[in-house]
This record gives sequence, structure tokens and C-alpha cells, in this order.
Amino acid sequence: MTAHSAPLDLAVIGGGASGFFAALQYAEMAPGKRVAIFEKSPHFLQKVRISGGGRCNVTHACFDPRELAKNYPRGSRELHAAFHHWQPSDTVDWFARFGVTLKTEPDGRMFPDTDSSDTVIQCFLDRARDCQIPLLPKHPLVGINRLANGHFALQFENLSTPVEARAVCIATGSLKGSPLLNHLKKLDQSIEPLVPSLFAFNVKDPRISELAGVSHPKVAVRREGNSAAQQGPLLITHRGFSGPAVLRLSAWEARDLAAENHHFPFLIDWLPEMSAEAVKTRFAEIRQTQGAKLVRNTPIAPIPRRLWERLVASCEIADLATWGQLSKTATRALADALKSSRFQAEGKTTNKDEFVTAGGIERHTIDFRTMQSRSTPGLYFVGECIDIDGITGGFNFQAAWTTAHLAATAIAKQSPIE
Ligand SMILES: Cc1cc2nc3c(=O)[nH]c(=O)nc-3n(C[C@H](O)[C@H](O)[C@H](O)COP(=O)(O)OP(=O)(O)OC[C@H]3O[C@@H](n4cnc5c(N)ncnc54)[C@H](O)[C@@H]3O)c2cc1C
Repeated sequence: MTAHSAPLDLAVIGGGASGFFAALQYAEMAPGKRVAIFEKSPHFLQKVRISGGGRCNVTHACFDPRELAKNYPRGSRELHAAFHHWQPSDTVDWFARFGVTLKTEPDGRMFPDTDSSDTVIQCFLDRARDCQIPLLPKHPLVGINRLANGHFALQFENLSTPVEARAVCIATGSLKGSPLLNHLKKLDQSIEPLVPSLFAFNVKDPRISELAGVSHPKVAVRREGNSAAQQGPLLITHRGFSGPAVLRLSAWEARDLAAENHHFPFLIDWLPEMSAEAVKTRFAEIRQTQGAKLVRNTPIAPIPRRLWERLVASCEIADLATWGQLSKTATRALADALKSSRFQAEGKTTNKDEFVTAGGIERHTIDFRTMQSRSTPGLYFVGECIDIDGITGGFNFQAAWTTAHLAATAIAKQSPIE
């Protein structure tokens, strides 16, 4: 592919989830047009491969655009409108059309029936072959210039001459450290600062040491001094805390936590279904009915036993103390520990199941009906390179499919009929 070839109708930059979906949708809508996918690495769809622990959480079983949009700390308003054009039911139908059926887990996450991301990858590769889309690995885009005729000259690291394209779809994923940042700025694309989202909290604390692997089905976690709590399961790891509740907090507070260099105090409510008053009432009931039992041996569900023992010990309640012997001070301390345990995060760990970059191409610089740049006609953005990110659960891929569909539709409409 050189400057001497006829210009491409669409050059897709990035062979990940959003790039493939944009190219495939475009090829379906504009048969006969010239579209190619340029990928910097030797392999396509690498993140799809490792996604969802190798199972690929393709989307989420939430079919109401308003409800669905609530799962995006950044981009919720824009996606709400976009989901009216392409939402999880469309994703499910599209994959079914090409032989990939999705199943729903009890928490709403949707995976291929096969429980393997390979199924998704093979589907995309087969479709690309059927649509005769050239796939060009080891083609890192390093420069992009607008030509006088309105087309683009794309400079790839491995090619001596630029490739000309009528439209360009940037699908590069996170722009962190990307050599394209300066080129995009030159095209008047402003960039929202890039910070991590969906990470686990590093915590060193005797209350959780050697408890790695212990999980709790539902806690509420919030930053100290901030009333917005995130609820969900929690997992104690070798490094601290992970699990949906923590990942959600990391997403909703991604910017503030980055500003604090990921060192911050936070509070865990181990019994979010019970008010502080209800906890005290429960204590009184236990004292009456099981007063002779050891406090450390009678955890309140659903707090796991080993964690309960640590929480009790942290209140300086002796191992042999019974409920009947519990002093008022100790009772208060235990109630406080259950409703509001304070921990200190000392850094973050990116979760191996899912992490994303918050920030990227500023949303107001894009027309979300078409995903086209407002400053540079013919330049489109899809997927994670935009300042859009979702919480964990299949929402990030859904944003990739939706933005890719919008861009492909708009570019197909604009492609001249020959
Ligand atoms: C471990 C992990 C697990 C995840 N699991 C899930 C999940 O189960 N469900 C979910 O919804 N989300 C998941 N995510 C998030 C999801 O993977 C991303 O949101 C999604 O991949 C974004 O798609 P994208 O196409 O925008 O970017 P990517 O998938 O990152 O693809 C971008 C591609 O562009 C290429 N590229 C970059 N720069 C250039 C350049 N200059 N020239 C050419 N090519 C370039 C990259 O090499 C890459 O192949 C996970 C993320 C991680 C890290």
C-alpha cells in the first residue's frame, strides 16, 4: 500500500476491538469500498484475547440506553444518545448473525457461549477475510497530515511513502505515550489528561494480612470525606483490595485519585444492607440469645469468618470475650469497625481482568452523531482513545462497538458512489 495506489476510502488505525468493528461494519454498509486496518503490533485483537480473563466479556445485559449510560463515569451523556443507535441487543444480534451466541451471567455480564475470547477473534478474522479487508500488522502510524484535496497522508513507521485515505478512523485505544498525540494536537484535537481507571488498591494492614483470596459478597467503599460510596463484591488480594466495589470506586474517582498519586484514605462498610442502628439492634439480640458465645466465633453474615476475627481483634476484643461480657466501649468500637473501617491506599495495581485509560480525545471536539472530529472533517475517533470509559462488566467493549458503528455508518454515507 503506497502513495501511488488509489486512495483508501477508509484507513482504520488500530486492529483492536473498535478498529475491527468499524472496518467490518463499514465493509458491510459500503461494499466495494477500499478499507484497510493498520496495526502497530505483530498481532491483532490482543486485548480482546486477554479480556475477561480470556473469556471476553463482550457486553452487558442492560438494554435500556438510559440505565446503560449510567455505567460510564466519563461519556455517559454522549453515550446515552449513541446507545439509541447501537446498544447491547444490537451487539448480541450482530454476533449471533455470525455464529457467536452470547450467554448472560447472573450479574449481567455477557460472554460467548464457548467461554473463550478466541471465538470473538476468529469471528472478526473470518469476517475480515470474507469482506476482503487487508489486515496490515507491524504498521505503526507515526504521522498524519491533511492534503489540499481534503484527503489524509498517513505516515507509517515501516513505509517510506505515505498512504492516502479519504477518511481516517483512529482506533488506537489508550493514547498514553502515543507518538500520535502531537499530531492530533496539530489537527486541533484537544486531549483530556490520561489517567488510569479500574485498578485495585494497594493496602498494607494487619487486618487483612494473609487473608488473600477471602471475598465478601457486598460491601460499600468510599473515599474518606466523600459520601459517594460504591457497592459490590470485594476481594482481598496479596497487595490489598480488589473486586467490583473497589474497581467501581477507582473508575468514578479516577481523576481525584490520580491527583493524590493513588495514596488516599478510604472507608469500608462491611454491612451496607444494615443501618448503624440495625447493627446495634443485632448486637443486642445476639447478646440476649447467644450471650455465652465467643464474639470472635459468631460472625454476622455475610462477613467471612476469617475477616470477622480480624475485625474483632482490631477492636481489642479478647479472643475469649463472649457477647455477654462485651463492654459498651467495645460494642461501640465493633459497630464502628463494621460500618466504617478506615484503610489507607498506598498506590494501585492494574487489575489483570480489566483496566482502561480515562481521558483522551475531548468529547466536545467530536460530533457524537457521526464520531467525526469537529475540527477536521474526515477524521473519526472510536473506542478507548476518546475520553470515555465504563466500569467493569462489559461496558468498555460496548462503548467500542457503539462508537465504531456510528463512525462506520457516517463514513459509509459519505463515501462517494463510483
Ligand atoms: C486485561 C484487560 C481485560 C479487559 N477485559 C475487558 C472485558 O472483558 N470487557 C470489556 O468491556 N472491556 C475489557 N477491557 C477493556 C477493553 O479491552 C478496552 O476498553 C477495549 O479493548 C478498547 O478497544 P479499542 O479498540 O479502543 O482499543 P484496543 O483494544 O486497545 O486496540 C487498539 C489497537 O490499536 C493499536 N495501535 C495503537 N497505536 C497505534 C498506532 N499508532 N498505529 C497503529 N496501531 C496502533 C494497538 O496496538 C491496539 O491493537 C479489558 C482491558 C484489559 C487491559
